[in-house]
Amino acid sequence: MWIEACQEVDCFMHGLIKRNPGEPEFHQAVREVVETLMPYVLEHPQYRDAQILERMTEPDRIVIFRVTWEDDQGQIRANRAWRVQFNNSIGPYKGGLRFHPSVTLSILKFLGFEQVFKNSLTGLPMGGAKGGSNFNPKGKSDREVMRFCQSLMTELFRHIGEDTDVPAGDIGVGAREISYLFGQYKRLANRFTGILTGKGLAFGGSLVRTEATGYGCVYFCENMLHARGDSLRGKTVLVSGAGNVALYAVEKATELGAKVLTMSDSGGFIHDPDGIDAEKLAFVKELKEVRRGRISEYAEKFPHATFHAGERPWSVPGEVALPCATQNEISASDAQTLLTNGILAVSEGANMPTELEGVHAFLDAQILFGPGKAANAGGVAVSGLEQSQNSLRLSWSRAEVDQRLQTIMRDVHTKCADHGTEPDGTINYVRGANLAGFVKVADAMLAYGAV
Ligand code: NDP
Repeated sequence: MWIEACQEVDCFMHGLIKRNPGEPEFHQAVREVVETLMPYVLEHPQYRDAQILERMTEPDRIVIFRVTWEDDQGQIRANRAWRVQFNNSIGPYKGGLRFHPSVTLSILKFLGFEQVFKNSLTGLPMGGAKGGSNFNPKGKSDREVMRFCQSLMTELFRHIGEDTDVPAGDIGVGAREISYLFGQYKRLANRFTGILTGKGLAFGGSLVRTEATGYGCVYFCENMLHARGDSLRGKTVLVSGAGNVALYAVEKATELGAKVLTMSDSGGFIHDPDGIDAEKLAFVKELKEVRRGRISEYAEKFPHATFHAGERPWSVPGEVALPCATQNEISASDAQTLLTNGILAVSEGANMPTELEGVHAFLDAQILFGPGKAANAGGVAVSGLEQSQNSLRLSWSRAEVDQRLQTIMRDVHTKCADHGTEPDGTINYVRGANLAGFVKVADAMLAYGAV
């Protein structure tokens, strides 16, 4: 069966690459999923007969459009934007918008594909989507960002809706961008409705949404450690990134008694052997969220810390790694370095931060490895709770939302364990997350017949 599955994976990937040429990130995300699912699909012919894998790797639709806007010098600028509506079998499309110059269709397809599984794992009724633009918000004035967001929404608003597709933030799309996008939607549609999540608290946002992905990633890590009779207390932690996910991963890990040694941005990483405590984190939040500065300033402010230009934090010895910046930021050799230095657990705050070879190295070493689909599901889960509050026209307290987030992350962990426990008792979280996410969506697709 194993040899047959390997041949089927190669054959499947050959066809997928032929149909989707030049999309390496999408190929990588699909291969990781198909490698773990193929033996299961071969054992369950109903999925094979209905071509479920072929259908799940083909987006329902992709909208591609031009975004024209005017900069502060009066020059006309044009960017490209996409919305990949991947699969709405178990609920309206849901997934973030990314603004970054590196954005391509391949990246948005990989993110949309992963989102389908992640949203299924949360147990909430949400389909998967992703969108964004190659617009670079860095160095732009607030007015330029506003004009860009308004222009983008002028096209996007035709394709979204509270029962159709509900976007949220991602890299480069935070509270400021969501506010501009929501304001323009409201103006165009003349409706005040929950068509975006991550909104400000004054206009339909949920408490704990800002913190949810980072907190959830740490809750997931704590669940993995508990399953081995361990905890985060006293552990040394390596974090990458200094954006939304990283900031709140550092906050929660520190609250749970861990010592966070590193943070990073695209310029390099800082290493603080004394640990990034609450006071130092307050400095980073102000630096990143208000002044939009660079992480190198941390080492100027706190002299015990060092800044390493152009490098990632994975050479620093630590017991837990929380990659929270971007895709493919842990290479195969970084993974090897982490293992050599005795890493116990990796919980992915970012989407697909580990290259496939690195994933294989972590699985072979049987460390605790929580893939992004499971470990960063807290963000979209609280987005789902924001949608519920909008529909009910109610706002839940901070304690209530945080409690629901903790319960959802515990349930995600349980689903991974139920579907990924090996005969020797260890848990393969990659297989667990892929299988648990798959079965619910695939069964809905089977029930619908050929649609
Ligand atoms: P932000 O834009 O808030 O922060 C991103 C951080 O990563 C910044 O510090 C940025 O540095 C760094 N970064 C981005 N691109 C690169 C790169 N190519 N190389 C090195 N560093 C880079 O984004 P988020 O925190 O929201 O997102 C981080 C990750 O988490 C992404 O993978 C995203 O898909 C994932 N995620 C986010 C969720 C959310 O709720 N926001 C939900 C689930 C997953 P710089 O400022 O220098 O660019």
